[in-house]
Amino acid sequence: MGKGQVKGLVERLKDGDNVLIAEGYMWEFERRGYLQSGGNVPEVVLDHPDLVRIMHREFVHAGSDVVEAFTYYGHRTKLRDIGREADLERLQKDALAIAREIADETGTLMAGNLCGTGIYSVDDTLSHGTCREMFREQVEWAVEGGADYIIAETFCYVGEALLALEVISEFGNGLPAVITLTPYDPDETVDHVPFPDACKRLEDAGAAVVGLNCSRGPETMLPLMKEIRKVCKGPIAAVPVPYRTNEKHKNFMAFKDEWTGESLYPLDVNCCMCNRSDIHKFADQAKAIGVEYIGLCCGNAANFMRELAEAYGRKPPASSVGEYVASDLAKLKMSSSSSKLTDHLENHDDDGGATGN
Ligand SMILES: [Zn+2]
Repeated sequence: MGKGQVKGLVERLKDGDNVLIAEGYMWEFERRGYLQSGGNVPEVVLDHPDLVRIMHREFVHAGSDVVEAFTYYGHRTKLRDIGREADLERLQKDALAIAREIADETGTLMAGNLCGTGIYSVDDTLSHGTCREMFREQVEWAVEGGADYIIAETFCYVGEALLALEVISEFGNGLPAVITLTPYDPDETVDHVPFPDACKRLEDAGAAVVGLNCSRGPETMLPLMKEIRKVCKGPIAAVPVPYRTNEKHKNFMAFKDEWTGESLYPLDVNCCMCNRSDIHKFADQAKAIGVEYIGLCCGNAANFMRELAEAYGRKPPASSVGEYVASDLAKLKMSSSSSKLTDHLENHDDDGGATGN
């Protein structure tokens, strides 16, 4: 199956279908030891392309409708920072080619990807020009690489997000744009626009999907999604991080270690992760709000994606590999060789209930 043979993003959403997307490649590669936190440049595309193919396949197997080219932070500023600017074009083109290959193989959509440049400054028009150039070259590579649509994400300034959308409209050869902003602590962008208004501006400026991704977990992103739903008429996106953010710690950068009081971000935030039930609940709530474009960002893993897909009524291939998760304890109880262990567990459980998990 090749480009044009699968139903497009806009057509799916128009028909009332939802679109599920696995993000979080950077963190998952860091967890696996192929990237280091801090640099956050997708060098693995150049150094271990086969691993990128495998992760794309895993996420599709777990329910993603989209293969997102792994070009996140693979832009000119970041590559210059790590002394690999000369590899920029090859990294971008290889990432797009790998994503196109796996999307064709699996019959999914392929998305090109832009992100915040880190150099945008509201009053510095010179920086706007530089951003535009960085976006332009990436949009042109995405078009050339056969992207089905373009994601521009993790913007903390609506001004920069609008700039990215403008460049996609101008150079994207008609490809639809999904634009998502990143909410940190305040409920407004760094350029002081409340998120619902910011999303509305992006929708009015022609984005096919608008919403939020990264930084906040389900608990602190969903209240904003409710507000966004009220003002945006078109499809909205929620792509949180799978962490238990809360009123006190609205984003995962704010987590403190309960034992030491030390800041946990970024290396030690895993002790604040959501569990699968949290993800299922998040997806149920997002569905009830009317979120049509849903996924998970940094911290995502295939089993979370499967959970999310199942909550959205899907049965991805990962759901057919045996009902291991749901009936784990039941199977343990049925096994005569482990009945003593089951008794032992139940007799030592303070709540008197099952201790499975
Ligand atoms: Zn993220």
